[in-house]
Amino acid sequence: MLVGGGVRDLLLGHAPKDFDIATDALPEDVKKLFSNCRLIGRRFRLAHVFFGREIIEVATFRASQAEEKQNSISNDVDRSHDDSGRILRDNVYGQLEDDVWRRDFTVNALYYDIANFSIVDYTSAMNDVENKVLRLIGDPQTRYREDPVRMLRAIRFAAKLGFSIHPDSEQPIFDLGYLLGDIPPARLFDEVLKLFHSGQGVKSLQLLRRYNLLQYLFKQADDLLKQGDDIFDAFIHLALESTDKRINEGKPVTPAFLFAAMLWGTVDKLSDDFKQSGEPGTLAMQNASSIVLSKQVKTITIPKRFSMVVRDIWQMQHRFKFRHGKRAKSLLMHKKFRAGYDFMCIRSQAGEVTDDSCEWWTRIQTMGPQEQEILLKPAKAKPRKKKSTVKK
Ligand code: ATP
Ligand code: MG
Repeated sequence: MLVGGGVRDLLLGHAPKDFDIATDALPEDVKKLFSNCRLIGRRFRLAHVFFGREIIEVATFRASQAEEKQNSISNDVDRSHDDSGRILRDNVYGQLEDDVWRRDFTVNALYYDIANFSIVDYTSAMNDVENKVLRLIGDPQTRYREDPVRMLRAIRFAAKLGFSIHPDSEQPIFDLGYLLGDIPPARLFDEVLKLFHSGQGVKSLQLLRRYNLLQYLFKQADDLLKQGDDIFDAFIHLALESTDKRINEGKPVTPAFLFAAMLWGTVDKLSDDFKQSGEPGTLAMQNASSIVLSKQVKTITIPKRFSMVVRDIWQMQHRFKFRHGKRAKSLLMHKKFRAGYDFMCIRSQAGEVTDDSCEWWTRIQTMGPQEQEILLKPAKAKPRKKKSTVKK
């Protein structure tokens, strides 16, 4: 059975990002059936079946908790909760009629039966599709406690689909956001990318702020925005807008740019403080970067390959003012020049860079190597006045 985002997006006329399959076959049996299959997940065991570059997620029907209690078929190894109600494992298998109730939103709980081309709807999801409403299945408090990431999923789907969150599903978010603090940083990294790399990053940020959840993902950015830092506010908006545009044009994006942008306001201020107290620019930024990044990774993992680029982008920012000689040339040759340059132009658009750096560095990239050489020539030292040697 096709289920989840694939069915939902097809009904709404969107191109599905991927296809999720639900089946009564056990993960081990799926693995036996497909040689190109891998079982993943401890908390939620799944089979990934590879078709070329595509991955099809195959999940075995899960039983609901009520079912579990009635039949007492499970034991602690298969399902467990922590004190706040969070599900630590969810590997009790059941039938489709059970599986429906543990999905998050009604619109994600539609099944498409490939055998007879029919849609199976147990939760009045079709009504919600029609009214463009996201509604959690079951008691919203309990469902958010079971898995706090569902709050972020609510925001992601609201942004992506243009749906509103049903008042009953919306209200608990204001009180339960803090539960995101218990989510492993690696899972938050995945979720944050889904929020900001789906072409609706501006909308996602707006919603995170509206529901006061930004503090649980990017505390440092949230603090600055709450202090009313208008330039940083404008900068973040423009950065996300440019990422959205790139994604919608099919251009590649990197998580490094997102993290560099989210943390820029904080790292810039801190490195300024260090400079004030006498550190040279490069060292000041290096130290500020380490502090800001190490705070951030407590909440969201940033794999090293990205954090290195984040540092590069930040470090480049104070180098754009040098337009001549070796310094300027090596900046132009920097392997992350393009990211650093894009970043600087967005700062410029936000009103943070007040000289013509963006225009100048834009122009030089349109030139041939020879013209570039001329423009980059070391600034001539002022001709020294010749000592007047009076000939006798
Ligand atoms: P996308 O378009 O981003 O893939 P999706 O709805 O398919 O959206 P997935 O993360 O691929 O989301 O999950 C597939 C389905 O599995 C969901 O539609 C939902 O039914 C169920 N699901 C996923 N995550 C959760 C969760 N945290 N709690 C409950 N159900 C979930
Ligand atoms: Mg999906």
